[in-house]
Amino acid sequence: MADTGALDLGFDPAALKARYLEERDKRVRKDGNEQYVNVAGQFAHYLEDPYTERVERAPVKDHVEVAVIGGGFGGMLAAARLRKAGFNDIRMIETGGAFGGTWYWNRYPGAACDIESYIYLPLLEETGFMPKEKYTKAPEILAHSKRIAERFNLFDRALLSTGVTGMKWNEKKKAWTIE
Ligand SMILES: Cc1cc2nc3c(=O)[nH]c(=O)nc-3n(C[C@H](O)[C@H](O)[C@H](O)COP(=O)(O)OP(=O)(O)OC[C@H]3O[C@@H](n4cnc5c(N)ncnc54)[C@H](O)[C@@H]3O)c2cc1C
Repeated sequence: MADTGALDLGFDPAALKARYLEERDKRVRKDGNEQYVNVAGQFAHYLEDPYTERVERAPVKDHVEVAVIGGGFGGMLAAARLRKAGFNDIRMIETGGAFGGTWYWNRYPGAACDIESYIYLPLLEETGFMPKEKYTKAPEILAHSKRIAERFNLFDRALLSTGVTGMKWNEKKKAWTIE
């Protein structure tokens, strides 16, 4: 019997899903995480932040409603959307000394996005920013990250130059303890 859903859509979702899975399987390696180089020994310096001097501070011990770990586009977007939804008690925690994630860490000459800026850069309308180029360069993307952080007040209570080393769920308090 014909699948009416497929007829309505003009394609067969099950067949399309199978095709995507087939392509995915070609790319998934058997060695999984073993394929990656451990960032230790001669590579350990890659864990250091060459852009921002780390200033020692006393440990912070308090409670926030939302903690976002990672200040790249993913974390910033989540926090910005939460702010728009009315959440105010938000804390960003980021290993790097500033927001931007990928664009904070990658500063080699010529680095740029390879998807059109107008599609790739988040929150353009909300920040009123128009990228200068079709494939905008890394410094402009880093600057846009700062713009997002300022527009959505993400610096407020943020812990920068701060890496999360562990998280434990406290069932009694219904809260995460973040280390
Ligand atoms: C040169 C270049 C060009 C690219 N171009 C494109 C493009 O055109 N289109 C596209 O879609 N993608 C592109 N990408 C991919 C890019 O990485 C993603 O688009 C996006 O920026 C990833 O955002 P993210 O928030 O998921 O991760 P990230 O940007 O990696 O952010 C994660 C953040 O979490 C922080 N973090 C990690 N662990 C911890 C911890 N334990 N404690 C505290 N903080 C932590 C990291 O320091 C980092 O800042 C490009 C990447 C590069 C390098």
